[in-house]
Amino acid sequence: MGRGKYYQPEIETMSRKALRELQNERLRWQIHRCLAKSEFYQEKFKKTGIKAAHIKTVDDLVHVPVVTKEELREEQVKHPPFGRYTVAPAKKWSELHPSTGTTGAPVNTIWSEQDVENITEVTARTMWSFGVRPGDVVQNGFSYGLWVAGMSTHYAAKRLGCFVIPIGASMTGRQIDYMINPGSTVLLCTPSFAIHIAENMRERGISPDQIKLRLGCFGGEGGAEIPATRKKIEEGLGIDAYDYYGLAEIGPTFASECTSKAGLHWAEDHFVIEVVNPDTMERCAEGETGVLVITHLTREATPMIRYWTNDYARYDSSRCACGRTHSRSIGGILGRADDMIIYRGAKFYPVQVEKVIRSYRELGDEFLIELTRDEQALTDVCTVVCECLSPNEDKLALERRLQKDLREELLVTPVIRIENFGTLERTTFKAKRIIDKRK
Ligand SMILES: [Zn+2]
Repeated sequence: MGRGKYYQPEIETMSRKALRELQNERLRWQIHRCLAKSEFYQEKFKKTGIKAAHIKTVDDLVHVPVVTKEELREEQVKHPPFGRYTVAPAKKWSELHPSTGTTGAPVNTIWSEQDVENITEVTARTMWSFGVRPGDVVQNGFSYGLWVAGMSTHYAAKRLGCFVIPIGASMTGRQIDYMINPGSTVLLCTPSFAIHIAENMRERGISPDQIKLRLGCFGGEGGAEIPATRKKIEEGLGIDAYDYYGLAEIGPTFASECTSKAGLHWAEDHFVIEVVNPDTMERCAEGETGVLVITHLTREATPMIRYWTNDYARYDSSRCACGRTHSRSIGGILGRADDMIIYRGAKFYPVQVEKVIRSYRELGDEFLIELTRDEQALTDVCTVVCECLSPNEDKLALERRLQKDLREELLVTPVIRIENFGTLERTTFKAKRIIDKRK
């Protein structure tokens, strides 16, 4: 293929000024067509009195109302099956990719042939940035089918000239077999599944140096950028582990870490990335944490203008050590608003619990947060359930230490329950970490 360090050097290292100009130009094109063809956007803009001519630059976007997932869901109920934000005509539709429906009815997203091409190129670029090269044997452990990650990484791996094993998110035993023969060199899956595979390898007595895997990228849920989780995956599989981010409504895997492991790089030639304060709805300053709001610059079929992701992150436009100029979110996705736990006045995310649990050598990788109601004391009870690796462990002492460390991290004291190893359910897809029995 003859590429160097970058997959698309002219795009990946272009000056911030030139990148902004490219974004502005593409934004004007997108706003113009959405307002010309979509009644959904026409109504939305009309309510606030904004016209296409008002939106000339990325900075003007702050005047545009955000689009929420709930809104898309309602729109599809009122105007089935795809809502009125489908801008490309039916003859251009190529693939249907609904969201997983983990937080309600699935929202349908359509890719045109041009969308598939852009998605393939952006995904190939992200894979190149964390070190995938022609000739790599890519084991795709993302779920295929309707979920967006499987198909996009499959297309991208082929584009890069890799040998693809489309195994999907199942068959843990065979995942390990393929790492030995034919010897997969790259693994793509969720971080929970990677940890599950590593656990199975240990049980089968297979050490990381018996497999050929050298790197992996993990998305679909947070985790790969939590140091303790990254370490578990890297040591368990003997690889370099990177973080991936994607959303059904926006696109699969359109942000990933580069080999500097210095945050998620955004593909800013195709997306406008904003971080917005959810209380004031104003754009956050660089480095401040807020909700990610994303605008499609090139998406043809179902373009989103200011999509409210519910995911928390920070924005950083400084040049990365890798030389790429596209902005990053350092530390990756910091939490999903949907997963936020409010307990006795404190707010925290499952990733914070994960960070503490995975720093304990005595504990297994699985955990669960149970929320119940004590009807007699009229209080909520939050119980963190985890597993200890050795049956001879002093559970009481371990519980006390863990409770103290979690109190420091969460600013509230949960009840701790340590079970024997293997008690909690394992997953090959996205792990369910919260059970809320209070409702
Ligand atoms: Zn970088």
